[in-house]
Amino acid sequence: MDTVVLHATVLDTLDEVVAHFSNPISEVSAHYTIDRDGTVVQHVLEEKRAWHAGQSQMSDGRINVNDFSIGIELVNRNDGVDPYPEPQMESLRELLRSIFGRQPVRHVVAHHECAQPPGRKSDPAGFDVARVRGLFPFLGV
Ligand SMILES: [Zn+2]
Repeated sequence: MDTVVLHATVLDTLDEVVAHFSNPISEVSAHYTIDRDGTVVQHVLEEKRAWHAGQSQMSDGRINVNDFSIGIELVNRNDGVDPYPEPQMESLRELLRSIFGRQPVRHVVAHHECAQPPGRKSDPAGFDVARVRGLFPFLGV
């Protein structure tokens, strides 16, 4: 896995997210969800493919981003107003650091940056992904 895709859940609580991802009818999953209070839940092993990016393409042209990416969901309403609290950001930084120790990650992208066709997804709305990339200078886009 050489890419991390960041999402916002739209669902308002961690409990709703866990229920949604464990329902086979949903046909969606991500590897991790981070709650507003910093709680991290893992849904899928990092080595396994999860279903979070949908139809997608990287800026280097690669498609089917699920095949080579880890999906991290941030509990957030994705309305562009709901904040991403500091405990959630702290857990995200910690989780990324630990993933980078296990996986050869070179890209961290927002879902809206890789979703196809462009404009299909807005998440994580109001989240400054460039700032996160800036913390880890080895990352490209
Ligand atoms: Zn998403």
